Amino acid sequence: MDIKTIGVLGAGVMGNGIAQVASMAGYNVILRDIEDRFVEGGIKNIDKFLAKTVEKGKMSADDKNAIMGRIKGTTDMGAMKDADFIVEVVVEVMNIKKQVFKELDEITKPDVILSSNTSSMSLTEMATATKKPDKVVGMHFFNPVPLMRLVEVIRAVQTSDATVATTIALTEKFGKVPVEVKVDIPGFLVNRLMVPHFIEAIKLYEQGIASKEDIDKAAKLGLNYPMGPFELMDLTGLDINLHVQQYFYDNLPKELKWDPPLALKNLVKSGNLGRKSGKGWYDFSK
Ligand code: NAD
Repeated sequence: MDIKTIGVLGAGVMGNGIAQVASMAGYNVILRDIEDRFVEGGIKNIDKFLAKTVEKGKMSADDKNAIMGRIKGTTDMGAMKDADFIVEVVVEVMNIKKQVFKELDEITKPDVILSSNTSSMSLTEMATATKKPDKVVGMHFFNPVPLMRLVEVIRAVQTSDATVATTIALTEKFGKVPVEVKVDIPGFLVNRLMVPHFIEAIKLYEQGIASKEDIDKAAKLGLNYPMGPFELMDLTGLDINLHVQQYFYDNLPKELKWDPPLALKNLVKSGNLGRKSGKGWYDFSK
């Protein structure tokens, strides 16, 4: 499949990062959001990132200009008619994602691939919103997109082999490392590995077996993890972590259920959400 133009729907945290890596790989990018201010915010973010790269001497000003020149921002959904491959990066709400897929189905090229950057939701359900469910696939990037190398490529029940192969090849063109998730399950690979280790860490702490600091040290020095579980939860946000844990609890089979721990629920209830609120497992206010 000859891919020249990538459509990115949503210019938020993840969307502008995906637009950036696609343009850096030489593709034309159509970056669409629902309001001008979101589109402009996304483009400004890319410009800022690249300006820093130029400052550090890692990119020429001409290359930066070429990358920015390949990205066209818009609020017009109709612009997606020119895309050969689309990444949906709108808010994590199933009905909104399905609505977006339904609209795309009407206006896009017949052989376009419709991928979603969802972190947890069912691609199989999203695919039911289109008339070409075999062309729907998960393409899960990690934050911050320009720096994180992994992309999970997730197969919905309906996804064809050709769609998976094209998505894996494109991921590599973006300079990323793909892993194929062969079954559409909640949390895919990374979150399925991460959540149990978070819950186990909180249980050890709740039971008074060790301090948070020592559990973090154990993960870093004993497992060679760059961050301990409490440090990582504080960085990503305790509310988001609780949301993912609850989603797993509601959607995984009984033998795989882990109860979200009380200590985490209480921190979220009290507004202590991690770094972004100044306090979570650790205190960042000082
Ligand atoms: P965000 O809120 O920063 O951005 C979402 C953007 O989508 C907003 O700018 C919003 O205006 C826009 N939008 C809403 N409806 C739209 C529509 N119909 N068409 C075009 N744009 C629309 O959110 P985010 O953090 O970038 O997350 C986006 C997706 O990526 C979610 O599915 C999320 O679960 C997933 N994700 C997020 C992270 C993360 O760390 N933030 C990591 C991996 C995956």
